[in-house]
Amino acid sequence: MRNFIYDQPASRVIFGVGSLDRLAGEVKRLGARRAIVLATPDQRKDAEEAARRLGDAAAGVYAEAVMHVPIETARAAREFARRQEADCCVAIGGGSTIGLGKAIALESALPIVAVPTTFAGSEMTPIYGITEGGLKKTGRDRKVLPKTVLYDPALTLTLPSKIAGPSGMNAIAHCVEGLYAEDANPIMTLLAAESIRALARSLPVVVREPANLDARSDALYGAWLAGTVLGSVGMAIHHKLCHVVGGTFNLPHADTHAVILPHAVAYNRDAVPEAMRIAAGALGAPDAAQALYDLAVRIGAPVALKDIGMPGDALDRAAKLATENPYYNPRPIEYSAVRELLENAYYGKRPA
Ligand code: NAD
Repeated sequence: MRNFIYDQPASRVIFGVGSLDRLAGEVKRLGARRAIVLATPDQRKDAEEAARRLGDAAAGVYAEAVMHVPIETARAAREFARRQEADCCVAIGGGSTIGLGKAIALESALPIVAVPTTFAGSEMTPIYGITEGGLKKTGRDRKVLPKTVLYDPALTLTLPSKIAGPSGMNAIAHCVEGLYAEDANPIMTLLAAESIRALARSLPVVVREPANLDARSDALYGAWLAGTVLGSVGMAIHHKLCHVVGGTFNLPHADTHAVILPHAVAYNRDAVPEAMRIAAGALGAPDAAQALYDLAVRIGAPVALKDIGMPGDALDRAAKLATENPYYNPRPIEYSAVRELLENAYYGKRPA
């Protein structure tokens, strides 16, 4: 076994149908009396319901979260928190809402209670991102790690299949890259494999039978583990490509992950046979890259960059951007091979 460092940022996790009932108690447990509730405009009702449950401890609803945390939104939300004299942030929603909570916590160190309603995994990471001048900058800071996470699978029932499927692929991507991370460790490998198993078996059911709460619970369990992996070990080519390509061409976040993942895995296939063996085993198929492509097709997630808004003449530029800054990847980053990966992803080819 190779040497490793295990440094797990800890959150308190409450998991199960009906966990939202514990919200007021959990906010109180943190010693907070004035919690603001964050959401996207689409999920204002969820935020209002959370505020209702908080009763006297609710200090207002801020339902203005948008994807990738534009700096203007972060500033306005910070100002709202100051004005309301908030001592806690409840973030109910996906990575966009939790990201807004992190932007507030980064400045004020307010504790976050996260109530995730997608499978993206942001709630378990100390990673924040803020977009300024069209450029998303990310960083790590333990201040932004939610203190408490309430996973209530019932809240994902309203998540439409076309968001749920790609969101689950986003979670699987954290796990696959966690298996071959530069700082991989055996504990995260266990979590990653368990998460891939849970998501691979549950996502097709979530999409086929949207009211199946057991499948939603299983997927949310997988998402929790995936977020833990993302928060604990470094990522590689897949996340870099999604960040660069998604950011530059303003593509939908989870869809971009769903499309690129099989191709990023095929890129690394021969460099990390043990990680591939574990991923394939968890997916229940002989080849991880092909199994991920087939899973995306099965759950109706997009498989081609051309279908999610990537311009056809941008492959050279995308490959250049993705290869110009060196970063860790188990297989060396080469322009022509990355260009080919992107072309395959552009047309949605099944990995060979
Ligand atoms: P999202 O938060 O942008 O949500 C997508 C849409 O789905 C929104 O309109 C939202 O209101 C809606 N929605 C969410 N849950 C719903 C539900 N249960 N019912 C109905 N509608 C619902 O999507 P996401 O994929 O969770 O987050 C993407 C963002 O999170 C990206 O900016 C990404 O970079 C970030 N992210 C960050 C981390 C991290 O560790 N920092 C990890 C993963 C993702």
